[in-house]
Amino acid sequence: MDKYILYHDLKDALQHEACPVCALVEQRVDRSIKVMLREGAADGQLIGAYVKARGFCNAHAYRVKEAGEPSAQAVFYRALLETHKQHLERYVQARKRHVEPQGGMPLHRFRHLLRATVAGGEAPSDTHAYLSSFGSEERCPVCATAEASERRYVEAVVDYFEGDEEFRERYRNRGVLCSPHVRRLVAEHADRPSVAELLDIQLSRLDEHIEQLRDIERKAAVRCSEEEGSAYRGGWIRAVRLDVGAPGTDTRYKQSAAALKGWTVKP
Ligand SMILES: [Zn+2]
Ligand SMILES: [Zn+2]
Repeated sequence: MDKYILYHDLKDALQHEACPVCALVEQRVDRSIKVMLREGAADGQLIGAYVKARGFCNAHAYRVKEAGEPSAQAVFYRALLETHKQHLERYVQARKRHVEPQGGMPLHRFRHLLRATVAGGEAPSDTHAYLSSFGSEERCPVCATAEASERRYVEAVVDYFEGDEEFRERYRNRGVLCSPHVRRLVAEHADRPSVAELLDIQLSRLDEHIEQLRDIERKAAVRCSEEEGSAYRGGWIRAVRLDVGAPGTDTRYKQSAAALKGWTVKP
């Protein structure tokens, strides 16, 4: 994206009581989905990458679905389903080979023991191989696009806050980041000189949001008209976005390594 355009887009996004990084990432993701559906169905490399990543994550699958273009989506999904079918066929065949012979020790049990003895340890089972076939080392392609944009826009917030008076003033008046992006700000730019002030601004914005939520709680306690009610509900929706970012934002940081211990498939 052109640096001049990015500056103006980011400054414009500061008009709302919401994370400007989220607003720009959403636009960027929408554009990339449109391009992918318009041109990707004829691009073997892109389809290959999509299959290798085992398709989109749940949130982005539904987002892409909303973008329509059924014939383009059919190309992607057919390639993915064919891969799943191949793995399932392989697994079904493997299971058939392990059918218990007449009497004696079940063959698969025997094989398992033999493998364990020969390899000096547990060989990965066919079941494990099949389960692994659902996962990938590659990320959801839309998640990858979103993350690259998040990095760029969070950095731009710091750059413009430090380098541009007009941007700085606007951010002081309206700037706030969602939790995923304030986290990224600290993770990637904690040493930048402006971060202390950015975090002070964040603190006062959190106070404002907390106060808005208190108001909604109070309103729920006393009956209010539909019109009044909807004016207040906005504060609650803003709180959702403040907590998890725009739909599809990566919030896996919420789970510590200990919480993921029981997982057999990479999230
Ligand atoms: Zn955000
Ligand atoms: Zn995704």
